[in-house]
Amino acid sequence: MNTGTFERGTHPPDNKEFTSGRAICDAKIPKRVIIPLSQHIGAPCEATVSIGDSVKKGQVVGMANAFVSAPVHATVSGKVVAIAPFPHTMGRDVLSVVIENNGKEEWVDNISEHQNYLSLDAETLKKLVKDAGIVGMGGATFPTHVKLSPPKEKNIDCVILNGAECEPYLTADHRVMLEQTEAVVEGLKILMKIVGVNKGYIGIEDNKPDAISAMNAAVGNDGSIQVYSLKVKYPQGAEKMLIKAVVNREVPAGGLPMDVGVVVQNIGTAVAIYDAVRYGRPLLQRVVSVTGRGINEPKNLMVRIGTPLSQLVEECGGFKYDSGKVIAGGPMMGMAQSTLDAPVIKGTSGLLVLTPEESEVSTHGPCIRCGRCIDACPMGLQPAMLSLLVEHGFYEDTKEYDLMNCFECGTCAYICPSKRPIVQWIKLAKMNLAQKK
Ligand code: SF4
Ligand code: SF4
Repeated sequence: MNTGTFERGTHPPDNKEFTSGRAICDAKIPKRVIIPLSQHIGAPCEATVSIGDSVKKGQVVGMANAFVSAPVHATVSGKVVAIAPFPHTMGRDVLSVVIENNGKEEWVDNISEHQNYLSLDAETLKKLVKDAGIVGMGGATFPTHVKLSPPKEKNIDCVILNGAECEPYLTADHRVMLEQTEAVVEGLKILMKIVGVNKGYIGIEDNKPDAISAMNAAVGNDGSIQVYSLKVKYPQGAEKMLIKAVVNREVPAGGLPMDVGVVVQNIGTAVAIYDAVRYGRPLLQRVVSVTGRGINEPKNLMVRIGTPLSQLVEECGGFKYDSGKVIAGGPMMGMAQSTLDAPVIKGTSGLLVLTPEESEVSTHGPCIRCGRCIDACPMGLQPAMLSLLVEHGFYEDTKEYDLMNCFECGTCAYICPSKRPIVQWIKLAKMNLAQKK
């Protein structure tokens, strides 16, 4: 068996034991869903409904008017009761469509199934993916149809499914690989057909041997697909690291996977693609790992998009402690939440609840020039220098140190003995430079 990896990185405790053995169970369907019109990277959608309208499950409630965008759909049937800014897991209020659930689960009329989906041509398949509102479900939320539309001069020769799930605590992709095995493989075949390649890989960290076995069994004798075991190391699931580990290609600085002939998609995204193409279902739900030492009953829940985070906490037995920290996503790249009124969006892979001790904010010290962050940065950057420049307000100078090549994995901050908030500073510099531009 191959076991690939990349240079540098780190080994945070994976803490996956809270939910890795827990089968996915259906969360209660909420009485009211909040559907943000922006759940993806790119242009926000425009509402296609008005207050008082009746809507059916799967109906488009937000239309994408730009190429880099993705439509959003009603995830329950019922009545639109508000279109207004609501809290969002990204930390700001976002215009959202609120639907009061009538409990009837009425589907929109124009659902079309395709039994022989692999006989459809690539453009038809891509349109089905686009219309279903599918985005990268590993957290990046980049519209999938855009990633599947590389310029003609890019010579794509393989698709890699990302089953690394290297973020500590999260187990949503792990459970999907165990429980929706066939859908993962069929989703990969659809992806391969869309980009016109005959080679597909499924990369899985070797702390998930059951998922590796399950995927190998599902692939069977299909020589076009290879399951690839990856060493457990953070951030193994980052696109550039995954590509290096699986096909030994290096994405150039400032480049994209397509520059080295690769399309990378997440495990959950592959299942969403299969559902959209085979059954005509838009992206209405996803698996969320509700986990951590601060929640009473950790679970992997199948959740309707638009479900308030508070409902997930309630469904998992509530908080263990009066205080703590709640993070949407994992501890390395997730976003701390200031309110549980924000809803689950397409990119919400987890809800992590930390204990009061784990949530304590330690004051940072000066850089002691230990160089650990430089040794660990998977992009070969100089996080120490970036942090010093931002700390002293020299935002422009960060460009010389390849600020924009940082993908905010958090490795440097995790490893820093002085607890310097390196990633927050890097984000601040990026925001500052973007505003100036
Ligand atoms: S500088 Fe950026 S890419 Fe490098 S370790 Fe820090 S967060 Fe990750
Ligand atoms: S790990 Fe922290 S203290 Fe060490 S060089 Fe990097 S920023 Fe400085």
